[in-house]
Amino acid sequence: MSNYDFDYFVIGGGSGGVRSARIAVGHGAKVAIAEGKDYGGTCVNVGCVPKKLFAYASDFGPAFEDARGYGWSATRPAFDWNILLKNKNEEIKRLNSAYKTLLDNAGVKRFDDYASFINTHTLEVGGEQITAEHILIATGGTPRRPTFKGAEHVIVSDEAFYLKDFPKSVVLQGGGYVAVEFAHIFHGLGAHVTLLYRGPMFLRGFDEDMPPFLAEEMKKQGIDLHFETDIESVSKNDDQFIVNTTTGRKIETGLVFSAIGRDPNIDGLNVKAAGIALTETGQIKINEDYQTNIPHIYAVGDVANQYHLTPVALAEGHVLADRLFNKQKDRSVDYRYVPTAIFSGPPCGTVGLSEQDARAKGLEIEIYKTDFKPMIHTLSGRDERTFMKLIINKADNKVIGCHMVGRDVPEMLQGIAVAMNAGATKADFDRTIGIHPTSAEEFVTMRTPVSN
Ligand code: NDP
Repeated sequence: MSNYDFDYFVIGGGSGGVRSARIAVGHGAKVAIAEGKDYGGTCVNVGCVPKKLFAYASDFGPAFEDARGYGWSATRPAFDWNILLKNKNEEIKRLNSAYKTLLDNAGVKRFDDYASFINTHTLEVGGEQITAEHILIATGGTPRRPTFKGAEHVIVSDEAFYLKDFPKSVVLQGGGYVAVEFAHIFHGLGAHVTLLYRGPMFLRGFDEDMPPFLAEEMKKQGIDLHFETDIESVSKNDDQFIVNTTTGRKIETGLVFSAIGRDPNIDGLNVKAAGIALTETGQIKINEDYQTNIPHIYAVGDVANQYHLTPVALAEGHVLADRLFNKQKDRSVDYRYVPTAIFSGPPCGTVGLSEQDARAKGLEIEIYKTDFKPMIHTLSGRDERTFMKLIINKADNKVIGCHMVGRDVPEMLQGIAVAMNAGATKADFDRTIGIHPTSAEEFVTMRTPVSN
């Protein structure tokens, strides 16, 4: 029995924090959690979950049109943003309360307030001083606000989930996950979308075949993509906004949405009081064991990580609790093949190395690629194509990279990630029987490498 109020105090009730608290209490630790806002964190409240619900809503738009080729004659029905918003909000409320129940039932003591450090073992939570033997910082991140002239007229993703009115047109700034996903959402729901990205091709860092393929698909749908273009300033004119771009263009729009990345949530934590070191980019600095420079203070998830992915935070929170309270010192997160999907239209997904990264590592590789019209569009008449790519390490025949743009990618890639984590070779893929007729079967039927 320690001399502290709690064995483990978790700051932040998002994915990483809640998982870690629940696992720790399951191992017999005395655990508390502090969350000043809504339980579930970014993912549940202003991220993955509402985003996916919006993406589903958006997918119906073109689906009504695609149905005509299959004999359905109805025209596209009207879309009501208020209904979507209300139903989404109810679902999020349900999840918030499910998270609280989960914690309560597990026996985690909840402090529905913000916590800040007084010293390395003491926190202030809602006016109380609480001590803990181990402390986890899992406070996540927050959307970065732009700084150009007129930035006060611009929304970021947190606000996009609560817009009062659905705009007729949107200008998006950025070329990462959020910009590309919201381009799909707004376009599918009926807004005219313009996406401005400062570099030559958005989704920088992904396999270099994937972003241009997606860009072509987005352009075919009527989304305006402007690369090498950024926002210089924004002004307001009645209920419209005027975006002045760095290329001299003026765009009138109903909404300007900036998606230029996220910053770690450390304001208010008073990390200085505990002497916790930060990285150059302001994240909590941790070692391989998720330890900060103060050995009994840890951090997981977006506040400390380059991977801003819920499943990564979950895995880290879990591993940390196992290590601390179940003597499983050898537990670790395997970061080699972290699958990720972009819920764009069509969606994209990726596991493992990009071609450029594999080459930069000096690996001798074999590339398999295909692109085709998915079967659903033979009758829908939609001009949409699917792209798939496998990267094989010649030395051991292992599949080390998989990249795809096309319908159902996020569902497909989870299985491919399992295979890659298990060390599957191209020969394993080749001897696997396909499921016919699907797009996924192409992953086991690509026979001829395209380049070496
Ligand atoms: P990202 O870091 O993915 O992308 C930021 C984009 O904004 C990049 O295109 C970047 O350009 C650009 N940018 C950065 N700074 C500026 C600036 N000052 N002016 C103009 N453009 C700028 O951030 P997101 O906001 O899209 O997403 C945040 C995080 O959330 C991501 O890391 C992602 O992991 C996570 N996320 C994951 C999702 C999923 O798993 N499906 C969905 C949504 C978010 P450049 O490339 O040139 O640096």
